[in-house]
Amino acid sequence: WDRSKATLPDARERTLIAVKPDGVQRRLVGRIIQRFEQRGFKLVGLKMMTASEDLLSEHYRELRTKPFFHSLQSYMTSGPVVVMVWEGHNVVQTSRTMVGPTNPTVAQAGTVRGDFSIHVSRNVVHASDSLEGAQREIQLWFEAKDLLDWDCCDQMSTSEDA
Ligand code: UDP
Repeated sequence: WDRSKATLPDARERTLIAVKPDGVQRRLVGRIIQRFEQRGFKLVGLKMMTASEDLLSEHYRELRTKPFFHSLQSYMTSGPVVVMVWEGHNVVQTSRTMVGPTNPTVAQAGTVRGDFSIHVSRNVVHASDSLEGAQREIQLWFEAKDLLDWDCCDQMSTSEDA
């Protein structure tokens, strides 16, 4: 096992995935984690918490002026969320594909939202939508010390090695 060979720079890309309160209430946490594991991504951070209004307001700062913002904020703070950081090649873009579009009405079967949701206001999961967004959100939800840098035995099998 030669770690220097196995770790290309883009294999270290990270994104923030959250199972929203409806997903936790509906016992979907395990199935959502399983999808990311089986795809080949590596879990590097995980916690369960009830988010504060301030945290949500910062997380969704670009949506503050939208008419649905206050209901979004109260839904997202209504119960625990499971927040995760996943790592791997193109994880930001691939996660968005796995999660599906914001509105479940147009989400394909096979995506998380297409399989588990019917309404935009209860769409089960969050996934960062860009590299910059992912970096911002990871810093917002996690302290650096809570993100683990660990060697994954199948890394060479899931990403091209150097
Ligand atoms: N949302 C909503 N009503 C809308 C649009 C969005 O309740 O008409 C909620 C929904 O939970 C969505 C979140 O606001 O996931 C954030 O919206 P965004 O456009 O950032 O979508 P996402 O990145 O989650 O797909």
